[in-house]
This record gives sequence, structure tokens and C-alpha cells, in this order.
Amino acid sequence: MRGVKNGVVSKRDYYEVLGVSKNASQDEIKKSFRALARKLHPDVNKDDPEAETKFKEANEAYEVLSDTEKRAQYDRFGHQEQGAGGFGGAGGFGGFQGGDFGGINDIFDMFFGGGGGRQRGPQRGADLEYSMTIEFKDAAFGLKKEIEIPRTETCDVCQGTGAKPGTKVETCATCKGAGVQEFVTNTPLGRMVNRRACPTCQGTGKRIVTPCTACRGAGTVRQRRKIEVNIPAGVDTGTRMRISNAGEAGDHGAPPGDLYIVIRVKTHDFFRREGNDVHCEVPITFVQAALGDEITVPTLYGRETVRIPAGTQTGSVFTLRGKGMPRLGNGVAKGDQHVRVNVQTPTKLSDRQRELLRDLGRELGEETHEQSKNLFERMKSALRGI
Ligand SMILES: [Zn+2]
Ligand SMILES: [Zn+2]
Repeated sequence: MRGVKNGVVSKRDYYEVLGVSKNASQDEIKKSFRALARKLHPDVNKDDPEAETKFKEANEAYEVLSDTEKRAQYDRFGHQEQGAGGFGGAGGFGGFQGGDFGGINDIFDMFFGGGGGRQRGPQRGADLEYSMTIEFKDAAFGLKKEIEIPRTETCDVCQGTGAKPGTKVETCATCKGAGVQEFVTNTPLGRMVNRRACPTCQGTGKRIVTPCTACRGAGTVRQRRKIEVNIPAGVDTGTRMRISNAGEAGDHGAPPGDLYIVIRVKTHDFFRREGNDVHCEVPITFVQAALGDEITVPTLYGRETVRIPAGTQTGSVFTLRGKGMPRLGNGVAKGDQHVRVNVQTPTKLSDRQRELLRDLGRELGEETHEQSKNLFERMKSALRGI
């Protein structure tokens, strides 16, 4: 899984992936990668469906950081969309040509004693993650939004084959079309057969005679793709939505990865969300609290009247049923809105003001005491519309 930067698709930083510092030595990088490879090996991580993706990510990071030239380029320019072919792109193993290893299966063999017999065909495309920040009201009502995703797509010109249309594709001479090479070793335990992806054709079994000019034989191209996303009502910060097959293209016609939209909901000046319930705080004067009153309270769905009984204490909570957030995936059910009243007590009264207190309930329409001004302002602006 790729990491997140606000609003853009991005890969996780390679140093972060390997858990090393920016000025780590080659030895540290190698050590850290080997430890990760051992931990993430898909064969020992059957329970973690993401282990393989993480392994690929680590592999890609290692490929760049272990090569001083590629590392220097990465340090200067970061992840390259174009022109840095060696950076691995869609997470396929095609770009894996680290000096120490001949291919992905070599790694399995190196670390796990071989004999795994893993045959790697074309790889499914990498998943992408897109972080989207939305307004509080959009979380309540949902929204349609067009986003632009930079991603690898199957080349239209050659349909992902990498061969110029109309030209011949031959069978790979090294593996005779099998896509794998077998290595037989005699060990004290018996004959062991190791299979690895054919290094000549990278497991495709084919040899392209004339590469497609549009994708230079890669079978994939980088595109900025506009996608309309439907955000349903009720989403909250951390909600992840999967759009199947909208991730990066797979290698050589393998299925694409998925696109994940990760939601962050902005906080609201007046409303605060807890689960599907909405909380707010409303100031009332001590006269209203003492004598009782009807107050107008903003909700997500317009104004509501709340009756404050005489003798209300500060901190009392009044509940407006069904005025909270809609439950995600259920258009009808909604949470509640809890209105907490905050009794504003005037301070530093003069003798005369103290005298006037008895008449205050009649004299004051609404308390505009300095202390409560902010709270009133926030409520007023919420009343104008959220
Ligand atoms: Zn092409
Ligand atoms: Zn081959």
C-alpha cells in the first residue's frame, strides 16, 4: 500500500519503507532490507494479505537505495513519474535488477533456503491511496467529487503487450516460453529444484521484436486520470472506500490494483461529532436558565427549537432525536444531536448592576456579555447555514 499525502497519490518514502535514516550506510540499508524481507516473506505471512504488497514495496525501495546512482537521483527528485524507469513503477518485478540478485525468486531462495518453487507470473498492479479532506456538511450529506489520479495504465496502443501493433512476438529463447527457469541442485537431502522467473523475459515467456513506440515496450504508460468519486453520507475521518481496479495497471495484462479513498473530515466551529451523534454547546443567560425559555438551535438540517425549563443548570443536555449524522450505508437512520447549555454568569457587577439584576430578565433580550460573545457568534454563523 502506498502512503498518503494530502490530496495526492504518493508512494511511501523509500527510507521510511526500509526504516532507515536518510544518511544510512549501504550496509545498514542492506541489513534492514534483509530483516524486512524475512519478516514479510509472503510464504510465512499467509495471515497478512498485505505482506506481499509490503514485500514488493520494500523490494522496490531497496532496488533504488542500494544503487548509489539511483539513490542520489531519488534524494534529489523523490519518486519519479517519468524518466526514472528503474524505479519499479507499478510494483512489478520487472525492474528488479539489483546487483546481488537475479530476480525475485533469488531472494526467496537466498533467505529461505530455496526450494520454494514459486513461479511468478505477471503481477497484479499496485494499490493506490488517495487522501481526501471534506467539509463537515459533506460528511453529513455526501458529495460527488472529481479527483485526478496519476497512475500507471495499460498502454492503449499495444494493449499491454509491449509490442508494436502488427509486429511479431517471438517465444523467449532462454525459457522456451515457460517464463521460468529451473535450477537443479543435488543436496544431502536429495535433489532440489529451484524455479525462478526467467531473467530474459521477466517471466512473460515472450520476446518482443519491435517494441511499442507509445510505451517503449513497457506495456504501461503514466496517465493523469480523472475519476468521479461518490462519497456517501455518514463518512467519518478514517473511512476507507475501495474503488476496485482503479489502481495501477498490472504487468502484461495482469489485473490492476485498487484505489482507496481515505477520508478526513474537517472540524466544525459549532458541531462536534461522536460516532453518529452530534454535540454542540449553546450559551444561555442565567435569566433564561432561571426563568426558562425557548431557544433556537442550529442543526445539520435547519433550525430547531429547544425548550429550556425554568431552573435549568449549566451543563444540562437536551437531545434532539434524529438530528445527528446519517449512519453510513443506511440512508434513513441518523444519530442524535445533543445540546449542552452553558449558563453565562455575569462577573464584576457594580452596585448599580447588582440592583438591576432583579429587573435583568425583563431588560435583557439576549445576554451579550463579553465572555459569551464568541459562543454566540459561532452559533449565529451556524444558524446562517453550516
Ligand atoms: Zn504500448
Ligand atoms: Zn524467458
